[in-house]
Amino acid sequence: MSFEIKTVGIVGAGQMGNGIAHVCALAGYDVLLNDISKDRIEAGLAAIGKNLTRQVGSGKITEAEKAAALAHVMPALELADLRPADLVIESATEDEAVKRKIFTALVPNLRPETVLASNTSSISITRLASITDRPERFVGIHFMNPVPVMELVELIRGIATDDETFDVARQFVDRVGKISAIAEDFPAFMVNRILLPMINEAVYTLYEGVGSVEAIDTAMRLGAHHPMGPLQLADFIGLDTCLAVMQVLYEGLADSKYRPCPLLVKYVEAGWLGRKTNRGFYDYRGEKPVPTR
Ligand code: NAD
Repeated sequence: MSFEIKTVGIVGAGQMGNGIAHVCALAGYDVLLNDISKDRIEAGLAAIGKNLTRQVGSGKITEAEKAAALAHVMPALELADLRPADLVIESATEDEAVKRKIFTALVPNLRPETVLASNTSSISITRLASITDRPERFVGIHFMNPVPVMELVELIRGIATDDETFDVARQFVDRVGKISAIAEDFPAFMVNRILLPMINEAVYTLYEGVGSVEAIDTAMRLGAHHPMGPLQLADFIGLDTCLAVMQVLYEGLADSKYRPCPLLVKYVEAGWLGRKTNRGFYDYRGEKPVPTR
């Protein structure tokens, strides 16, 4: 007999967390959305409203489906408010210390049968699971950005993840209309193991003066048929997340080929994190994005 999910709790209402809330609500799940402040939760709710409106505009969903989805999402100001959740997906900042704190504080608030998941882009599911009271009911559910648009979800089994939990996760991914790809629990799994070194190499190409931001992005868009150039994509992902993933690859695989480009570090230190802060490899403050190098 399989465990049924009715309510999904989400910790972190940023670009990924609100996207996950969006697709869960459209699939008919009740959603409890948590973040560190009321303002952040409200910003997440506003983004969901805006993105649903866009989907109505493009004819993907109806006005009635939008209204039904919005009615499914509730703010959860405290971790204790997540108790009704059958599945909790952590989608906070890509920083192991932050995630550890969240899981430690979260588990005493959950029912024993609740399944726990992380949307981490790179951090070991086995290690995150080990700090909880339920490593066997812990799984990696890694959505792609932007969640409402991208078809894939990587499913990652930690060393202790049991079969029922994995099946629950697989059924959940089906119900939100995504295709799952199963990855073993190694640093950055599959998509980011391949994608992020390419982005990091694009930053090195810029750093070494081989090409400008515009030349590199044009080269990969027109020369490799990528829908976005690698630097544009980096801004879209968030440069802090890109750097964090490279650090996990570098440390986790102990191979110098993954060393993060110093120029990527400099952008993150400047707080130029890409689209979410309005500046990264491009400046988004004007009408059109302008390359910053
Ligand atoms: P983001 O910066 O947009 O959002 C992170 C959110 O986490 C923020 O709203 C922040 O306030 C919140 N947060 C931080 N500490 C918290 C705490 N203690 N409790 C509750 N909320 C907290 O980042 P994002 O792009 O949404 O990334 C979130 C997760 O999703 C990361 O693990 C990231 O690696 C992963 N991810 C990102 C992408 C991407 O393309 N950006 C793709 C797949 C997965």
